Parts: sequence; structure tokens; C-alpha cells
Amino acid sequence: MQSYDVVIIGAGAAGMMCAVEAAKRGRSVLILDHAAAPGEKIRISGGGRCNFTNIHASPKNFLSGNPHFCISALSRYTQRDFIALVERHRIAYHEKTLGQLFCDGSARQIIDMLVSEMQDKGAELVLSTSVEDVRKTVEGFVLTLSTGTISCQSLVVACGGKSIPKMGATGFGYELAERFGLAIVETRPALVPLTFDANTLERLAPLAGNAVDAEVACGKTQFSEAMLFTHRGVSGPSILQISSYWREGDEIRIAMLPGVDVADLIRSAKRGNGRQAVQTVLANHLPKRLAQSIAERTGIDGNLADLADAQIKTIAAAVNDWRVKPAGSEGYRTAEVTLGGVDTNGLDQKTMQAKSVPGLFFIGEVVDVTGWLGGYNFQWAWSSGWVAGQAA
Ligand SMILES: Cc1cc2nc3c(=O)[nH]c(=O)nc-3n(C[C@H](O)[C@H](O)[C@H](O)COP(=O)(O)OP(=O)(O)OC[C@H]3O[C@@H](n4cnc5c(N)ncnc54)[C@H](O)[C@@H]3O)c2cc1C
Repeated sequence: MQSYDVVIIGAGAAGMMCAVEAAKRGRSVLILDHAAAPGEKIRISGGGRCNFTNIHASPKNFLSGNPHFCISALSRYTQRDFIALVERHRIAYHEKTLGQLFCDGSARQIIDMLVSEMQDKGAELVLSTSVEDVRKTVEGFVLTLSTGTISCQSLVVACGGKSIPKMGATGFGYELAERFGLAIVETRPALVPLTFDANTLERLAPLAGNAVDAEVACGKTQFSEAMLFTHRGVSGPSILQISSYWREGDEIRIAMLPGVDVADLIRSAKRGNGRQAVQTVLANHLPKRLAQSIAERTGIDGNLADLADAQIKTIAAAVNDWRVKPAGSEGYRTAEVTLGGVDTNGLDQKTMQAKSVPGLFFIGEVVDVTGWLGGYNFQWAWSSGWVAGQAA
């Protein structure tokens, strides 16, 4: 039986970073994946350009049952460390917006970088191989693979979350955690488009394809980024962000002209030319179809000159205080990440090692640490993978 110091299940972002670091320390490392290629999610990320980190990444950009858990890993391996690695590999990149760093060329450059680092440090990558069983022994672990049996001292679970099953996502990491007695914080799709019920959709379907810069809020959390109307509901960065905070039954509040006093805008248009319709005024600032739909939703038509101030306020609220209860989300089929996961209470924040099972580590998305949209999730994968690589 072949024996390794470290076996890593999952050759994604976190697993590959961990493999490089453990191999650097002279550990014999095997990293395996059931997919035919490593880093498939990296390949499709950021529209094919991989938003690989965020200049402003800090613990406040992450959701977790224990918001302090991620502090240690994020401060030991920072976005600056990953940027330095990218620069060493001469990968050109740019900031798109809000500190989000993307490759100028292709996401494949990040995969190639990690694969070449693994090769360079001597980590062995095995693809198209599934894990059928994992057993704890006195010395470590014995794994039954589709190709045979291997053993290791340290086992690192880097299987990712449940999002996009057709890309190879499984719930295997969570099953393994439960089998070893670790608690799981309930999982749900996050960074995901929200859907509306049939009635709301009937009204809003004609808006599909229209986008606005919106401020979207749920409870006390709000994001100001683009919002897109879709055939199923709403999407775009501001909606994906708020979806991580939204729960069934919650309403979301949307301002489609944030920072603009819409009532004042209409009043001043009324003074300038009272013979224009309200949707004409709104269409100067919003897509025409949307302006029309807002006017229809309020049931207020006619010329501005005929509008009472209360009606103007109703229209202003329809623009900047639109309250809607999404019926659901598009689910794991399109979610960028999985919220919840291996309960951080069971892990050591400095190493990602299970407190109750020496030698067993969990890193990346399978852990109950979920980033905002904008490069934060990869930073968590790099940081958690790096710290585990120093200890596994
Ligand atoms: C469409 C899309 C775009 C995204 N864009 C960005 C972005 O631009 N920036 C950003 O920060 N984040 C982005 N994300 C999120 C990011 O991809 C993940 O947070 C990140 O990949 C998590 O890294 P990971 O290593 O934990 O898991 P993954 O990268 O998902 O890797 C897990 C690996 O484990 C393997 N695996 C699973 N089950 C098994 C099993 N039973 N046996 C063997 N192997 C297994 C999988 O095949 C996979 O290779 C995006 C996600 C999606 C879906």
C-alpha cells in the first residue's frame, strides 16, 4: 500500500494551495480529484478571467457562524501574498472595480500557476479518481480509492461546496465531516439569483435584460452594485451579494436611483414642463421599459401637472423603496458558493485541523466561511489552504 505524509481530497483552489505549501515543507503529498482536470471552478470563474482576490479583503467580508474564525488564516496569508505569487508567475492582472483583481488573459493562467508550483515542489496530482472509503487508524488514515488503497498521516478535505453539481461539486466533504463527528452548519445556496412568484413575474417579465445601478437591502445589510432583471426574477452583483443574507419570507428593499431624491426630481420636472407624463421623467434616469413598469405599478398616469404631492411620493417610493418578497433562489444550479458547512467550532483556526480528530483538516468552501462576491472566496481558499499546508 502506497503511503503519503499528506493526502488532499479535491484539486480545487484550496487543495492546490495546500499541496504546494505542504510539499514545500518536504512532506510527500498526493492531491486527488474525481474530475478529469484540476481547478475547474477556477477555470469558469470571473467570466473566464478569475477574480482571484480582492485588494480590500478583510474578515468583515465573510459570513460565518463565528465571524472571528477566519481572522487568523486571512492575516497569515493575505491578498498581498497571493498577488506576489501571481506577479512572480508574470500573470498580468487588473482591478476591475471595488478592489476586484482579474487576470488580463485567462483564468487558466491561475490553474497553470498552481499546477506548476505543485510540480516544482513535488506534489503528486491524480485525476479521475474517487474516494470510496476513509478509515482512521492509529497512524493516520487509510483511503479506499477507485484505483486502490493508500494511507496517509494527514488528510485534508478540500472538496468545495455543493454549487454547480455539473462541475463536479458533491456533498462529500460534509459527509466525511459528519462521519468523523464534526457538526455541520446548515448549508444553502449563496451568491445566487433570486426568483419571484408567478404573479410578480407576469408583471416584471418584460423587463428581463434591463439593468440598473441599485442599492439592495435585506434587514440591516445593503449593497450598492448593478442589478439585472431576469426571466425568473433578479440577478446581478447587488442581488447575488444580498442573497447570502436573505432567507425565505424576507422582503428585500431596492433603490433603483440610490442617492437621488426622486420626489424632488419629479417636482422640479413638473415645474419645468407639467405636460409630460411621469414615465417620461423617469425614463431620463432609468431604462424606458422600467420607467413604464414603475408608472404602471403605481397606477398613476396623466401629466405631471395633475399629480398631487402624495402621488409624487408614491412614485418616489416605487423607485427608491421598492419592497419585494422573492419566492426563492435559483439554487445550487447557479449559486457561486455554498453558505454554511463544517462548523468552525470543531476546527483550530490556526491550522484548520479538526480539534477532535488529529490529522484531519478541512479547508476552502467546505468550511462554514463564505465570502462576499468579488474575489473574497478565492482569498479564503488560498488563506485556509496555505495555513493547513504549514501544519498537515
Ligand atoms: C461560476 C462561478 C464563478 C466563480 N467566480 C469566482 C470569482 O471570480 N472569485 C472568487 O473569489 N470566487 C468565485 N467563485 C467561488 C469559488 O470558485 C469557490 O469559492 C472556490 O473555488 C472554492 O475553492 P475550494 O478549493 O474550496 O473548492 P473547489 O474549487 O470547488 O474545488 C473542490 C474540488 O474538489 C473536487 N471534489 C469534489 N468532490 C470530490 C470527491 N468526492 N472526490 C474527489 N474530488 C472531489 C471537485 O472536483 C473540485 O475540483 C465562483 C464560483 C462559481 C461557481
